[in-house]
Amino acid sequence: MKLQIFVYQCEPYGHAFQAPELPLHGYGEFLLRTGSAATMSYLDALADPTYKEVDALLARRSGMREMKATKRAEILRNIYGQVACDPDGDGTPFRIGQHPRCPVCSSSVMRAWQEAVPTQFVELDIPAVTHALWTSLSDDQKVSRINQFLPELQSAT
Ligand SMILES: [Zn+2]
Repeated sequence: MKLQIFVYQCEPYGHAFQAPELPLHGYGEFLLRTGSAATMSYLDALADPTYKEVDALLARRSGMREMKATKRAEILRNIYGQVACDPDGDGTPFRIGQHPRCPVCSSSVMRAWQEAVPTQFVELDIPAVTHALWTSLSDDQKVSRINQFLPELQSAT
């Protein structure tokens, strides 16, 4: 798949480095990274039914109905990789919006990122996310798994 080179600047020191990301303006597509940021996987949220499924389960929770749609979408993006996607070969979960690691200080907290100028693309083979664990769960187990990653909302149930 075609990824675009972005220039990142780490938050702790401002080290500048380049890393691939999905080209801007894609809709419903996500690049997931593990916390160590060594592994990437790809999600087409319009084609993969699990994204809508987690969203629907989230929407049923008490406390969610009053929440703004944008806030719920943010929670969905934050928990989806851990909740519904198989981890990488080391057992490290994938996360949407996980930044790459700074090659100098290893931080994955970024101060800024933008498309490299001039525009550069790179062709990479990124595997799609898989859901072996998630699809093996019953509906009740799926709900508990979501709850497990929503500690701040436990009291609302
Ligand atoms: Zn750095």
